[in-house]
Amino acid sequence: MNNKRTRIYEGKAKILYEGPEPGTVVVHFKDDATAFNAEKKAVIDGKGVLNQRISEFLFTKINDMGLPTHFLRSLNMREQLVREVEIIPLEVVVRNIAAGSLSKRLGIEEGKQLPRSIIELYYKNDSLGDPMVTEEHVTAFGWATPQEMDDIVHMSIRINDFLSGLFLGIGIKLVDFKLEFGRFYENDMMRIVLADEISPDNCRLWDIKTNDKLDKDRFRRDMGGLVEAYQEVARRLGIIQANETTERFKPKLVKSD
Ligand code: UDP
Repeated sequence: MNNKRTRIYEGKAKILYEGPEPGTVVVHFKDDATAFNAEKKAVIDGKGVLNQRISEFLFTKINDMGLPTHFLRSLNMREQLVREVEIIPLEVVVRNIAAGSLSKRLGIEEGKQLPRSIIELYYKNDSLGDPMVTEEHVTAFGWATPQEMDDIVHMSIRINDFLSGLFLGIGIKLVDFKLEFGRFYENDMMRIVLADEISPDNCRLWDIKTNDKLDKDRFRRDMGGLVEAYQEVARRLGIIQANETTERFKPKLVKSD
């Protein structure tokens, strides 16, 4: 079935196909994992399914809060139907606790609670290695208007408050995460909507008691147990049952005589 569809784009972790109706896109979540601007690569069985299901769960909740997103519905374990949007070339990182590049750049110990949540902007450009930029660059180069940046910042803060509380309730600290936004055109109206995905691939999630990492740092730092960690997140969110693994979502070979 897949090869009959028109592929629009293949990225590091996802493939986009033309959707069944105009203005829609099918997002296929791959099992590929990449880090350090794709210098490190692996295929991790079951990762795509878990990310799709976790992202579906979180986007549904964010839609329910009244914040517009590109998410329409899941089509199967690995694929979702989304609105076609014009992606704004920014990675919006929200941080609550020091980790990763912030710790490295500013010499702040990993795990230190930040005095307030911090929003950082990165220009989405692989060949430049996604450099950090300020709102000045964003508006001067026309990547987004000042009004669009207001929407993006307000939505990011609301999403951070909501997700922080949601994860706290299941014993997880939301250390930091990355969001992407797009423009959605409806008749003569244009709205900024949340796009991309929210999953342990683009969040740092630490167990509240043990500080165990339940996110992609397990891959970045060669710790192993990535699928088990993502499964634990899905279990605590109530998406999968206690003893369920992604085994049962794998396609089975059907023999024909
Ligand atoms: N992040 C992401 N994609 C990127 C860069 C960062 O999803 O291309 C996420 C990352 O998973 C983390 C947060 O954004 O949750 C902050 O990442 P950081 O700047 O610390 O960079 P990293 O240490 O991942 O290089």
